[in-house]
Amino acid sequence: MYPLPPGAEVVPEASIPPARVTIAEVQEKTKEQAPADLLQTDSMFHTVVVRENTRITGEGWYQDVRHLEFEFDSKDDIRYDPGDVALIHPVAPPKDIQDFLELMHWDDVADTPITITRTMEDQSLPDHLPLYPQQTTLRTLLARHVDFRAVPRRVFFQYLRYFTSDEREVETLDDWLSPAGADDLYEYCHRPRRTIHEIMTEFRNVRIPREYIFDVLPSLRPRQFSIASSNKAHPNRVQLCVAIVKYRTKLKVPRQGVCTSYLAGLKPGDKLRIAIQKGLLTLPPSPATPVICVGPGTGVAPMRALIQERMYDGSSSNTLYFGCRSATKDEHYADEWAECVARQQLTYRVAHSRDGKEGEARVYVQDRIREDAPRVWKLLEEGAWVFISGSANKMPAAVKAALAYAVENEGGFEKEAAVRYLDEMVRDGRLLEECWS
Ligand SMILES: Cc1cc2nc3c(=O)[nH]c(=O)nc-3n(C[C@H](O)[C@H](O)[C@H](O)COP(=O)(O)OP(=O)(O)OC[C@H]3O[C@@H](n4cnc5c(N)ncnc54)[C@H](O)[C@@H]3O)c2cc1C
Repeated sequence: MYPLPPGAEVVPEASIPPARVTIAEVQEKTKEQAPADLLQTDSMFHTVVVRENTRITGEGWYQDVRHLEFEFDSKDDIRYDPGDVALIHPVAPPKDIQDFLELMHWDDVADTPITITRTMEDQSLPDHLPLYPQQTTLRTLLARHVDFRAVPRRVFFQYLRYFTSDEREVETLDDWLSPAGADDLYEYCHRPRRTIHEIMTEFRNVRIPREYIFDVLPSLRPRQFSIASSNKAHPNRVQLCVAIVKYRTKLKVPRQGVCTSYLAGLKPGDKLRIAIQKGLLTLPPSPATPVICVGPGTGVAPMRALIQERMYDGSSSNTLYFGCRSATKDEHYADEWAECVARQQLTYRVAHSRDGKEGEARVYVQDRIREDAPRVWKLLEEGAWVFISGSANKMPAAVKAALAYAVENEGGFEKEAAVRYLDEMVRDGRLLEECWS
């Protein structure tokens, strides 16, 4: 803060800031029996049982996409709308937790019941702390509250520096933390997506006091997933369509998504907690209003919920543009769409981007929309609502450009007026997007 108030001095770089929390061991007589792992935010979560976890992409296909079904306890009477989102809190695998506890030299106190209090009165506790004043353990904190498999930010390395006196580690960390070493740090950590767990295996002389757990480790964030089922069609159940994140960098071990690797490992009968949140998509009030759904890849999830609900309500004016690479490997829910078409409640248009002949241009959802420009324009004129969902890369803009093409070429609008037409649809809440990276 400049200018410094009278009497205040700049904190020297090497001085270690106080830990955010104080940890106290619970006295024998006040120890609780029940495991204490509730989050402050847990009150909004409900316990569900896994009913299905099926891979829906072809064997050997590069991407593992799952159809998951969870069942709520019927007394919870859970209600959700199409477009709503499930919030899932991952849990770290026990073996990884044990390895990390050993690396941190916390294994001998891992299961000691502790309570956590804030160090400074004017600082609130982060909401990923266990419900105060609950008892917990370090093992539980690593399972549900803090993320030791995240790619760390620069401040993590600052803490490593505070808590090592090993000459080689000090030299490396001082270099990375200097302005000149920023590129080296990027190459070591961020580009290859190295995790905190992996980094700790290389900094063996660092000793971080357990009080610093919330300063050093980021919170274990819940992840959002668009619900892929209609509540009307599937009471007490929630279905998801999830792409399991796994990719390679220059490191030997493949990188895995924290939450999706947890979901991939769930078996029927397992329990977990799910919260329901409002999403960005909502259905038109009348089932008679036509809808155009554009949902390539796992973007099909909310579209499936919308279409199931509309069909349940007796609507037949539904169009789905789905995009994938291959008709045999990753055309999610193809059989279901065929059935909806047979019942004359869906117009289904699919683009298989890699099934074309060699040398042919790849076909995407936006190309199908352009091909269908007369029909798309007719639907828009009838008041159709448009939904776009999926990857937030180039797809949403390309789809909107294709819609503008239909407005311009079939509606007879000037180029700019066609764009304004779509802007107006957005303003009127008739063009809705739910996209993620
Ligand atoms: C509103 C909303 C709805 C969503 N709905 C769905 C849905 O229906 N289905 C679904 O599958 N997902 C959905 N997602 C995405 C989901 O929330 C997670 O982000 C995703 O599943 C990854 O979580 P994770 O914990 O497994 O991965 P994380 O551990 O969080 O890792 C993901 C990170 O890894 C990096 N990464 C991933 N792939 C690569 C790569 N190939 N190369 C380099 N880096 C990479 C990126 O930085 C990415 O941010 C939705 C997101 C939002 C916001």
